[in-house]
Amino acid sequence: MNRDPDGLERLWAPYRMAYVREAGQRDGCPFCAMVAGEQQTEMIVTRGEHCFVAMNLYPYNPGHLMVLPNRHEADLTALTDEESRELTALTQRSIRAIRRVSNPDGFNVGLNLGAVAGGSISQHLHQHVVPRWGGDANFMTVVGRTKALPQTIAESADLLRAAWAEDD
Ligand SMILES: [Zn+2]
Repeated sequence: MNRDPDGLERLWAPYRMAYVREAGQRDGCPFCAMVAGEQQTEMIVTRGEHCFVAMNLYPYNPGHLMVLPNRHEADLTALTDEESRELTALTQRSIRAIRRVSNPDGFNVGLNLGAVAGGSISQHLHQHVVPRWGGDANFMTVVGRTKALPQTIAESADLLRAAWAEDD
């Protein structure tokens, strides 16, 4: 049985445990802490009215973004119309910004709803926007648990913020 036809389980699994560990240490939701400006605000690329865009701290590829509602909500069907519209609009703009910065061959865009589906912090939904290049999956399989340095992620955030501004 192949439970992983698109490689998505492999794609989003490696950093799940690290997130869970950090969330436990902080005794709260790290995404809500970002919204509140309490931590890792340098990882926020942009803030909308209802949603925001942040770097994934355990990126599958450089430029891996997340689009999240400000509100602590697990269920996609519980988003308001305004939140849903902005989630989609910010996802589109994330793709455009990443294209400007690094011109990937493709993207994985999606949500893991619930822990059983691979959601790392399943209580606060987050849409992944992952740039893909030919051969990157093979590369990651070889490299294994490689973790990008926070400084590298912050540099990516600077590049994406600049690209985002060009889209205004
Ligand atoms: Zn939250």
